[in-house]
Amino acid sequence: MPIVETRRDGDIAVIVIDNPPVNAQNNAVRSGLREALLAAGGDASVKGAVLTCAGRTFVAGSDIAEFGRTAQQPTTIEVIDAMEALGKPLVAALFGTPMGGGLELALGCHFRIADANTKAALPEIKLGLIPGAGGTQRLPRLAGMEQAAAMVLSGDPIGAKEALACGLIDEIFEGDPIAAGVAFARKVIAAKRPLVLARDREEKLAPWKGDRRKLDELLASSVKRGRGGPKAPPLAITALRNAADLPVAEALQREREMFLQLVDSPESAALRHIFFAERNAARVEGVPRDIKGREVGSVAVVGAGTMGGGIAMSFANAGIPVTLIDATQEALDRGLGVIAKNYRISAGRGGMSEADVEKRLGLITGATDLAAAADADLVIEAVFEEMGLKQEIFGKLDRIAKPGAILASNTSYLDVNVIAEATKRPQDVLGLHFFSPANVMRLMETVRGAKTSPEVLATSLAVGRKIGKMPVVVGVGPGFVGNRMLRLRGIEAERVLLEGALPYELDAATVQFGFAMGPLAVGDMGGLDIGFRSRKASGLKAPIADQICEMGRFGQKTGRGYYIYEQGSRTPKRDPEIEALIVATSKKMGIERRHFEPMEIVERLLFPMINEGARILEEKIAQNAGDIDVIWIHGYGFPAWRGGPMFYANTVGLDYVARRLTEFARQAGDERHNPAPLLARLAAEGKKFE
Ligand code: NAD
Repeated sequence: MPIVETRRDGDIAVIVIDNPPVNAQNNAVRSGLREALLAAGGDASVKGAVLTCAGRTFVAGSDIAEFGRTAQQPTTIEVIDAMEALGKPLVAALFGTPMGGGLELALGCHFRIADANTKAALPEIKLGLIPGAGGTQRLPRLAGMEQAAAMVLSGDPIGAKEALACGLIDEIFEGDPIAAGVAFARKVIAAKRPLVLARDREEKLAPWKGDRRKLDELLASSVKRGRGGPKAPPLAITALRNAADLPVAEALQREREMFLQLVDSPESAALRHIFFAERNAARVEGVPRDIKGREVGSVAVVGAGTMGGGIAMSFANAGIPVTLIDATQEALDRGLGVIAKNYRISAGRGGMSEADVEKRLGLITGATDLAAAADADLVIEAVFEEMGLKQEIFGKLDRIAKPGAILASNTSYLDVNVIAEATKRPQDVLGLHFFSPANVMRLMETVRGAKTSPEVLATSLAVGRKIGKMPVVVGVGPGFVGNRMLRLRGIEAERVLLEGALPYELDAATVQFGFAMGPLAVGDMGGLDIGFRSRKASGLKAPIADQICEMGRFGQKTGRGYYIYEQGSRTPKRDPEIEALIVATSKKMGIERRHFEPMEIVERLLFPMINEGARILEEKIAQNAGDIDVIWIHGYGFPAWRGGPMFYANTVGLDYVARRLTEFARQAGDERHNPAPLLARLAAEGKKFE
């Protein structure tokens, strides 16, 4: 079948797009579509037309790979012009996920009907863009300003019922889209319904025209924090406001200009990079895509502490039954209590119903005997970070777990191969490294042991996605990818404090860069005692952090850390006592303090991490730079619109990064800062991380 085909059902022309897998719009689709529209328009025997698709969805968006290249004719706008000039009823029959440029095509039709399971969205904001083919103008006219603001600024989909209620669609159908479209077109023709174009409808905009303040408030409150980077949300707001303020032709023109400006922005390039990197993370060397994984219908989690509890919640949230096991009744009760409390807090905030809470709690069963893991398809160990203990548990699990069960460790730093050696089934052992809080953070570093089988890896990736996580495969090595890089940031933060920055300055510089929180405030939140204990165990020193911990200040949990936290508050406040301590420590160590510009702080913190990322790539601990970027975005709050640390390095230029690192190495007398061989080579060749 050609990419766009016109069939006839009596006097109705049925235009069908067939561009698998998701009927993405590209040049071929647009050309075919315009031709089909012109033909239908010129044929006097055609009384009406239906636009729909073959396969599993109506046009699910534009081909993102085409973005940023010179636009070829016809553009989506020109296709929509042809729709609006048709002069005969044109019905879009929607199903699946009409999104972005796909939904904009539908908005250009006279009528829209949709299958009951349809999810429609304008997700451009998630890629640092705004709709570029009339979405910001036609949607508010059809669906009202509230719905349009929510959809354009969040990028999130709405279902068919909501779409019907707000006027985005005219009817919900069941069954075949073509039959439903033809029937609807006939109905419209018989009733002689007027053909009013979305662009000409003004009635839903009328209430917003005079009242600027009301509109400004609505638009500001529809912005989703952290979504779309710094540029796209304000331009989306301007575009929506233009719908109320300007004649439609002018507003459409402005929308297009803003879209083109964003397509060329580094922020959107970064978000598009992440979109592809996330998809690419599912492709794993040595794991064929069609490999059949094992069934995972039940899970056991060993250790009901901070991580075990969050992991158990993640599975219960996805409807998978979990057995939560701890060594003592007391520890188990504490763990179950925390889970119940967390669910109640979510319910209290309106995040879920009481029935949901009960359902989820009902899926979690407690036990104090490891034997309770006997029937689980997947066992995840989250006990204390001690090799001896983990080996003991895995030795026991080897005897208890059923054949074919997957045995995973949530270890942060330990060698998964050594853990696997405690069993006679190392092919079934791997690391599943969740991040705290495990019920919230999406990253799941999936640690492939030397003997982990492809089937076990594939199953783990599938399970991870099923519970809404973002699994990224990494190799064995201390701290895997994320924590290994993070360690260097910690060391550098300590140095920058000693050399002249104060905690609030250091954190402000990273927040200004785009992180939601600075590293010191993050340390206070997670607890400074964890790092303190591990430094003591390995004989490492951090003069400032150590002194803070020796004062019994472990962060938020003690009300004091790098900052002060007032009773019940999580907001860090500057503490003159700690600032004086830092200044005194510099003096004692003979370090002359100096002023730091925010960008210098950022480079000092990020470039050594990027250098470590280059070593991680050389050692093949990560498959590619995109995987490292995804890890940092979903596990450590790196701003997505910066594209992750490795993409960011590409943006500023590897040559510059290498030069700065050489300076840092000289100034600090730290060999580790010298550019890693891969970085040095790519910089010399003018290349990028891939
Ligand atoms: P935690 O101290 O909060 O919980 C550990 C739990 O294991 C406790 O409830 C303890 O009673 C239980 N336990 C100890 N021995 C046991 C045994 N023999 N049988 C059954 N249960 C036993 O620790 P956590 O922070 O949840 O960390 C657990 C693991 O997750 C560690 O390997 C840690 O490195 C890793 N991890 C922690 C974080 C984090 O931010 N806390 C993040 C990622 C990974």
